[in-house]
Amino acid sequence: MTPLLLDLRGRRVAVAGASAAARARLVSAGAQVVDALDGECWLAVSDDPTVAAECIRRRLWCVGSTALLVGAEADELPVRRTHTGPGRVALVGGGPGDPGLITVRGRRLLGSADVVVADALAPRALLATLDPDVEIVDAGKTAGAHALPQQEISRLLVDRARAGLRVVRLKGGDPFVFGRGGEEALACVEAGVAWEVVPGVTSAVAVPAYAGIPVTHRGLTQEVAVVSAHLAPGDPDSTVDWAALGRGRGTLVLLMAAARLDAVVAALLAGGRAADTAVAVVRRGTLPDEKVVVSTLESAAIDAAGLGAPAVVVVGEVVRLREVLAWR
Ligand code: SAH
Repeated sequence: MTPLLLDLRGRRVAVAGASAAARARLVSAGAQVVDALDGECWLAVSDDPTVAAECIRRRLWCVGSTALLVGAEADELPVRRTHTGPGRVALVGGGPGDPGLITVRGRRLLGSADVVVADALAPRALLATLDPDVEIVDAGKTAGAHALPQQEISRLLVDRARAGLRVVRLKGGDPFVFGRGGEEALACVEAGVAWEVVPGVTSAVAVPAYAGIPVTHRGLTQEVAVVSAHLAPGDPDSTVDWAALGRGRGTLVLLMAAARLDAVVAALLAGGRAADTAVAVVRRGTLPDEKVVVSTLESAAIDAAGLGAPAVVVVGEVVRLREVLAWR
């Protein structure tokens, strides 16, 4: 015998002569349960042979109520296999934290995923909306301590997709902005697994916006640089030209800079940025416990000491617009 799993959400199902338990089970599976067979029905559940005969005449599927018990057991499986076709991986940008800032496509894919592999900075409030049978893997990374090494994350994505499952890799912000999404995409390419990327609202732009800071502004700046400070200025592995950033006048948006703000500020001052350049440090932007510290380049390291991560640091005169544009 081969148990068949059906997605009954929104389907019209006729129930005739079946038990109350069978009926309850259909309702909990999201079916629209009706008492009589009609032209709109998608499935019939009945233990009555005359109903079965009528279904054969109408070329409609009919199952006995015991078949639903197979479904009940299948629900105990840790993963959903309600879809057909090969598995795939979607690298979904979840936005900066506010659950409303995920894209429509990202939200849809999340809602139909069998497996969700979530980052610490992904919009975690959305995980509570998932069906209980969705496998949630917490790949949460906190500064310095990777809950799951990158290679294991990539292997997990590939393994689950190969098992025929729809995998959503839910990432903070945009997957391809300092999110290691490119590495995960490459792992899929190498494994021959179908994949896609759903761009996200990056914290580099959205966190300043929620704090009332446009990253560009006509008359103030025509450039914005988004820079990772996860390696300190002077670190031999850093590819960032901090001296050039110090010489420039455009807006700087620094990610992963909270832990080494003093070194970053010193490098920009040494490069020639004016000491009174406005600086904003925004911690947990877009979230209910967001904190914003506004300062200047020479005072920011002291003023924002102890604020903590995750934080976006904005350097440039656009920060002063917050005085008027703080809207939250
Ligand atoms: N892919 C992400 C960035 C990943 S790097 C994106 O596009 O947003 C992680 C860094 O992003 C953090 O160290 C912090 O600098 C920044 N960040 C992400 N979410 C944030 C938030 N809600 N508030 C402040 N900074 C955030």
